Amino acid sequence: MANETTRLMVWIDQDLCTGDGICSEICPDVFEARDDGLWVVKEEAKNFGRRVIFDETGSPDSGPDGAQGLARIPDDQMDLAIEAAEECPGECIMIQPFQADLVHA
Ligand code: SF4
Repeated sequence: MANETTRLMVWIDQDLCTGDGICSEICPDVFEARDDGLWVVKEEAKNFGRRVIFDETGSPDSGPDGAQGLARIPDDQMDLAIEAAEECPGECIMIQPFQADLVHA
């Protein structure tokens, strides 16, 4: 059953990403590697009913990257996502309060 509750959203500033992958090691439900060696955020179907990867590839399950691509963080992943942001060497994981009008359609 999908966990559709969320209080936080997250995006990555790819201009600052070092590509070390620490974020997805800590929180694999929210962060994922892109083909160019930078990391992006995502929403998994098990959490939100539909898989969206904010990688700007233009594929059907893709959303915009950078500040335009905010993923919802499942409430049960909140602590891990915050830990990932704290450990991120590029300091490029941006977490902000949930805003319904920023949810990817
Ligand atoms: S932890 Fe930060 S710098 Fe490292 S891959 Fe993830 S977003 Fe990029």
